[in-house]
Amino acid sequence: MRTKIIAGNWKMNKTASEAAALIEEIRAELEGVIGVEVVVCPPAVALKDAAAAVKGSAIGLGAQNVHWDESGAFTGEISAAMLKDLGVKYVIIGHSERRQYFGETNETVHKRTKAALAAGLTPLVCVGETLEERDSGQMESVVTKQIREGLADLGDDFTRIVVAYEPVWAIGTGRTATPAQAQEAHALIRRTLAEISSGDMANTVRIQYGGSMKPDNAVELLSQPDIDGGLIGGAALQAASFAAIVKAGVSLDAGFRVQRPAGS
Ligand code: PEP
Repeated sequence: MRTKIIAGNWKMNKTASEAAALIEEIRAELEGVIGVEVVVCPPAVALKDAAAAVKGSAIGLGAQNVHWDESGAFTGEISAAMLKDLGVKYVIIGHSERRQYFGETNETVHKRTKAALAAGLTPLVCVGETLEERDSGQMESVVTKQIREGLADLGDDFTRIVVAYEPVWAIGTGRTATPAQAQEAHALIRRTLAEISSGDMANTVRIQYGGSMKPDNAVELLSQPDIDGGLIGGAALQAASFAAIVKAGVSLDAGFRVQRPAGS
């Protein structure tokens, strides 16, 4: 049984004080709710206040990027140790906005993933095709290449990764992949994960769906056999809609206890 994981990607939204306030609201909405792993990923400058705000709750804290070196002359970058020091447990890697606007490649995704794992962070590694790639029949080749190159040679750490399938055409567009389209891509990802890992490892890896997931489509998406959670953008910026998606996951996994991030 894979515990569902719902993570909010706040992107470049919320100041430090706004982030703390939103977490307070999410905590209130999720009071007594168990059964799903919940993560919030505010901007880097809000992480310290966010860490204080999640303290004593089961909400895990995530960052939106990490550099692969431990320290050095990399202006504007943040190391895994710096994130850990703030209480961060998860990190989004290879989001399509970083691939599209900031030159992220499968190679840099791989380096960031290795560094995150080495530091004990849980990487949420994003893959997904553009509309042009889907329409020209390249979804399969693009996504399998992203997986093969981004997640190569992870050894025993393989089981600690989380993959997010985020079709670029569904991110922030209000256009969602149908549950069948999403399931097809998730099954492809799991098959590819099986090809690059050993034993039963691929069956333990959680694969989130991301792309305009909302309270009204969450249950249908989260009921697909290979969809193990969601990476939520727009709907994560309001406590009520984010909590409603979490509760959709809980209703499907009733009876399973929430996983507390280590050390909380
Ligand atoms: C995202 O940015 O990861 C995302 C899924 O955004 P949205 O939910 O707004 O489509």
